[in-house]
Amino acid sequence: MDYSNLNRREFITKVVMLMSASFYSGKVFAMTDKDWKKKLRPEEYDVLRKEGTERPNSSALNNEKRDGDYLCVGCDSKLFTSKMKFDSGTGWPSFFDYVPGSLGFKTDFKIVIPRKEYHCSTCGGHHGHVFKDGPQPTGLRYCNNGIVLKFMPKV
Ligand SMILES: [Zn+2]
Repeated sequence: MDYSNLNRREFITKVVMLMSASFYSGKVFAMTDKDWKKKLRPEEYDVLRKEGTERPNSSALNNEKRDGDYLCVGCDSKLFTSKMKFDSGTGWPSFFDYVPGSLGFKTDFKIVIPRKEYHCSTCGGHHGHVFKDGPQPTGLRYCNNGIVLKFMPKV
């Protein structure tokens, strides 16, 4: 019996199992509503899972000017960097661009006028709306609820 051959086969089987497991968990962010309620604070849950909107000027991130990254509070995905942030004067943290692939979009009709809603593409959590009155180079304004962003300053 060739033991080294057997071990190699077992090893490959384990690697394939591990790879398919991580592929699966990366594709499907399976958390129930109950899990989300446990993980998030009520204010975060209201925005992220129920598409609520925080009060203007309520987020400390409005005045955040340090270098760093803005992560989704639901799953820690990087959505924005400080280089994409600008002072819109609207009372919500605003960005003119986002980290490629980090956001998904849909149109909502909550206020009759159609708005482009965006959410984290990893966990599906709602973050804000995008408007066409931002600065160059994109001309877009990603109006984000600060309560569902986690700021990580560069060290
Ligand atoms: Zn997320």
